[in-house]
Amino acid sequence: MARMYYDADANLDLLAKKTIAIVGYGSQGHAHALNLKDSGMNVVVGLYPGSKSAAKATEAGLTVHPVDQAAAAADFIMILLPDEVQKIVYKEQIEPNLTAGKVLAFAHGFNIHFGQVVPPADVDVVMVAPKGPGHLVRRTYEQGEGVPSLFAIYQDASGQARDRAMAYAKGIGGTRAGILETTFREETETDLFGEQVVLCGGLSALIKAGFETLVAAGYQPELAYFECLHEVKLIVDLVVEGGLAKMRDSISNTAEYGDLTRGPRIVTDQTRAEMRKILSEIQSGQFAREFVLENQSGKPGFTSMRRQEAEHPIEEVGKDLRAMFSWLKKQA
Ligand code: NAD
Ligand code: MG
Repeated sequence: MARMYYDADANLDLLAKKTIAIVGYGSQGHAHALNLKDSGMNVVVGLYPGSKSAAKATEAGLTVHPVDQAAAAADFIMILLPDEVQKIVYKEQIEPNLTAGKVLAFAHGFNIHFGQVVPPADVDVVMVAPKGPGHLVRRTYEQGEGVPSLFAIYQDASGQARDRAMAYAKGIGGTRAGILETTFREETETDLFGEQVVLCGGLSALIKAGFETLVAAGYQPELAYFECLHEVKLIVDLVVEGGLAKMRDSISNTAEYGDLTRGPRIVTDQTRAEMRKILSEIQSGQFAREFVLENQSGKPGFTSMRRQEAEHPIEEVGKDLRAMFSWLKKQA
C-alpha cells in the first residue's frame, strides 16, 4: 500500500513567513487562495488587468495584483491558469520574476512534463493536485475536511521542496483527507488517461451511445435519458461509497446478472486495445502536441466539436427534463 500523509506529517510553519501567489482565480484558484488565507497564510492573487475575477477576490478579502507583480512579491508561486495559457503567462509575467530560492507550483503536471514550461535550476518545482474540482476543495475545507490530493517534486533546489509542497497541501486542507506522493510523469499521464478513457471521454460516449440506440429503436427520448444518463449518478454514488460490490448488492438480481454477462460485451478486447493506443499517444506526447497546436491555431476543431455536442438531442431532452425537476422540487 502506498503511504498517505496527514496533518501531523506536514508543517505549515514552513510557509508562515512567506508570501504565496495564486495565479488565476477560477475553479482551483479561488479555493486555494481562500483556504490558504483561512489557514493563516499570506496570500496574493495574480490576475490579468481587467479580469472579471478581480472584484470577487477583492470582496473575499484577498489582495489582487497583476500577475507579474504577484510573482515578484511571492516566495511560492502556484499557477492555476488553464493549462493551455500557462506557457505564455509563465514566459511573459512569471519567469522574469522567478528569482533563486522561490517555489514554482502546479496543480497538474502537463506543462512541466511536456516541456512547455522550463524553469531555471535554482527554484523548487512542485505539484499539489487536489483530486476534485475547486468548489469541493473550498466546501470541504469550510466543513473542516479536505479533498485527497497528490503531491510531487520535479526539482528540489532548496532541499526543502518536499516539505514545502506538503505544507501547501496542508494549507489547502489536503492533508485532512490524506495526500499521496507521485511524480509529474505519473500524475500527468494517469490524469489524462483517466479523463479521456473513463471519466469524461469514456463515460460521455457510453451515455450517448446507449441513448442513441434506444431512440433509434423507437423508444421515448425521455425514457432513454432517464435510463442512460440520469441514473448514472445513483450507480456511481454506490460504487464510490462501497466499490462495485456495494452497487451490486443494491441493484436487483436481474440487473446484477445483466451486468456480469453483458458488461464484458460492451468493453471488448477491441476497446482495451484502443485504451492502450490512447495511453501510448499520451506517453509519446502525441496528445499533448495535438492539444497545444489546436490552441495555437485558435481552437477550430475544439469550437466545432463543442457546437456539435451542444446540439445533441440528449442535451435538449435533458434541459427540458431538468427544468421540470426543479419545478417539482420547488413545489415540494
Ligand atoms: P479555470 O479555467 O477554472 O480558471 C483559470 C483562471 O485563470 C481563471 O480565473 C481565468 O480568468 C484565469 N486566466 C485565464 N487566462 C488568463 C491569462 N492569460 N492571464 C491570467 N489569468 C488568466 O482553471 P482550473 O480548472 O482551476 O485549472 C487550473 C489548473 O488546475 C490547471 O492546471 C488544471 O489542470 C488544474 N486542476 C484542475 C482541476 C479541476 O477540477 N478544475 C482539478 C485538479 C487540477
Ligand atoms: Mg484531470
